[in-house]
Amino acid sequence: MSLQLYNTLTRKKERFEPIDPTNVRMYACGPTVYSYIHIGNGRMLVVFDLLFRVLRNAYGAGHVTYARNITDVDDKINARAAEEGVSIAKVTERTTRQFHADAADLVCLPPTIEPRATGHIDEMKALCETLVAKGHAYVAADHVLFSVPSMPDYGRLSNRSVEEMEAGARVDVAPYKRSPMDFVLWKPSKSGEPAWASPCGIVGAGRPGWHIECSAMAGKHLGNVFDIHGGGIDLVFPHHENELAQSRCAHGTHVMANVWMHNGFLEAEAGEKMSKSLGNFITVRELLDQTPGEAGRLALLSSHYRQPLPWTERLVQESRRTLDLWYELAADADDHGEVAPDVIDALEDDLNTPRAIGALHALRGEAAKGNSAARANLKASARLMGFLQSSLEEWKTWRPAGVAIDEVMVDTLITARLDARKRKDFKESDRIRDELAAMGIQLKDAKNKETGEIETSWEVKR
Ligand code: AMP
Ligand code: ZN
Repeated sequence: MSLQLYNTLTRKKERFEPIDPTNVRMYACGPTVYSYIHIGNGRMLVVFDLLFRVLRNAYGAGHVTYARNITDVDDKINARAAEEGVSIAKVTERTTRQFHADAADLVCLPPTIEPRATGHIDEMKALCETLVAKGHAYVAADHVLFSVPSMPDYGRLSNRSVEEMEAGARVDVAPYKRSPMDFVLWKPSKSGEPAWASPCGIVGAGRPGWHIECSAMAGKHLGNVFDIHGGGIDLVFPHHENELAQSRCAHGTHVMANVWMHNGFLEAEAGEKMSKSLGNFITVRELLDQTPGEAGRLALLSSHYRQPLPWTERLVQESRRTLDLWYELAADADDHGEVAPDVIDALEDDLNTPRAIGALHALRGEAAKGNSAARANLKASARLMGFLQSSLEEWKTWRPAGVAIDEVMVDTLITARLDARKRKDFKESDRIRDELAAMGIQLKDAKNKETGEIETSWEVKR
């Protein structure tokens, strides 16, 4: 076995040596749940899902732990909740559900652990306390701040010197910072924002900064030092640089993760990163309304993960046609084929997907000549990468799931129904239930043990 991975920390492709081959541990920074994810986020999901599969193949499915977090404390979530006039929990619950559906449709395995920031506030506070006690952080104006000058090799991951960063820093540095690059571990909450009792003797309530969330979640589930940490290239600085600084200084370790991996951008147009803020995005849901998830997945893996991926309609169409051919040939192939060595070699060479897909094309050529072993091997190899998951029949009859459900409207109707019940207007509450049922939405009422109130959850039954 000779898995090679490019390590952002050393800027080299290296032979991967797990700390413990019986429990290979990887962490990836997942989405902030405030609205539908876009296909750039989808690229990150699919790339690290492929890595998870390659590691499972190499070390055994039960010997890999993949933690992918959900960021459910963030200004964008608060803004969204205020805009819609619903609770923050409602926004995160709904977006998490959408996110899970998107990830599953892109054929991503569920990660082993999916920690949420709000479930790890105590761990974040403990990190703040430790960092202050060790002289790596300080309290100022009700904030806890990380002291960048306290870490001599800060900047190693992004390969920048502190002087360089300071020169590039904006002029309006917060006056309470001792040094311009110092960053927030904990900050005060304004009224209406999520708030928890603060650590480090701060009297007012507050909330964590973004970077400390991942340090706390990764540390808790994967240990102080683990194997692989990943995310999109935009996270190298400041997010990963700061995560690494917090974790290393708190735990007194030389590294946080041995290997740092970053996927390149999916580009809306040449050279332009797809992002929510630029408004140039296509959501995964929109893509999946036009094409099956496997075709989206193949398009997302068509370029090497570290290269930019220019997104075009043509790429999606070609990917679908490629899968048409693979499906036809693998349809009645037996299920005991072997994964082709060329495919494994390519994937173990820093996830070289263009080469792996090329090897699948070569197998297809053989299979088309009537070679039944090639057909079975095509099937096994494509499956390893998350393709050919359904039958030829299902593939051919694929239809989009239908018009996306307007979840805001569903929530509004559910609230109206609960109001009607409270007024004992059962005619109206039944009418709303039927209206939702006609849309394929089934309701389930349950009593909240703490508040005694009836709460309604829902799911789609097609
Ligand atoms: P966000 O919710 O924006 O923090 O992004 C979630 C994940 O998607 C992070 O790992 C990002 O680095 C990654 N990501 C965001 N935009 C893109 C893009 N255009 N191409 C590739 N990855 C991206
Ligand atoms: Zn993170």
